[in-house]
Amino acid sequence: MVIFSEDHILETRKRGRIEVICGSMFSGKTEELIRRLKRAKFARQRVEIYKPAIDIRYSEEDVVSHDSNSISSTPIESSASILLFSSDIDVVGIDEAQFFDKGLADVCSKLADSGVRVIIAGLDMDYKGVPFGPMPDLCAIADEVTKVHAICVKCGQLAYISHRIVKNDKRVLLGEKDEYEPLCRECYNKALKESTD
Ligand SMILES: [Zn+2]
Repeated sequence: MVIFSEDHILETRKRGRIEVICGSMFSGKTEELIRRLKRAKFARQRVEIYKPAIDIRYSEEDVVSHDSNSISSTPIESSASILLFSSDIDVVGIDEAQFFDKGLADVCSKLADSGVRVIIAGLDMDYKGVPFGPMPDLCAIADEVTKVHAICVKCGQLAYISHRIVKNDKRVLLGEKDEYEPLCRECYNKALKESTD
C-alpha cells in the first residue's frame, strides 16, 4: 500500500486543491505539513502558513512540530483573515486547523477555486472522540485526506485517540506529552472503564 501517493502533485503548475492531514496527537501531522510546504518552497512556490492565534505553545510566529523542525507562520484570529493575507500565494498551509472557526472550510474552498493549493493539518477528534471544530467539514471537501497515526503507548497498535491523562474538562487544552497519551480504541475503552470503576 502506498501511504503518501504524490504522483498527481505537480509542484510547478498552479492548480487549486485541498489536502487534509489529520490524526491524533503524536501522529506526525505537523511534520508531514512541514515536509510538503518545504518541498513546495524548494520548487520556488510562494508559500504562506497560518495557525490559530490560540496556539502559542512554543513560539508566536513559527509552526513548530514536536521535534522542533519549524517553519515561519502567521498567527491569525479568524479564518476570514486568511483570504486577506493570501493574494499572490501558490500554497497555503494551515496548522492546528481544529482550533479555527467553522468558516475555515468555506475559506479553503475559495482559495482552491482560485488556484491555490491548500494543505491543512489538524486533530481529527478531541480527547473524548468528538470530531474537532471544522475538521469534519474540511475532510469532506478535501481532494485528498491523509490520516496519520501515533502508536498506542499501552500495546503498540496504531493509536486511535489522544487520551487526556490529567483531569480537566476544558476542550481546548493545548497538548504536551504530560497531558495526553495516544491510545488504540481497545486500550482507550479500557482506560475509560478503569477511571469510572
Ligand atoms: Zn492499545
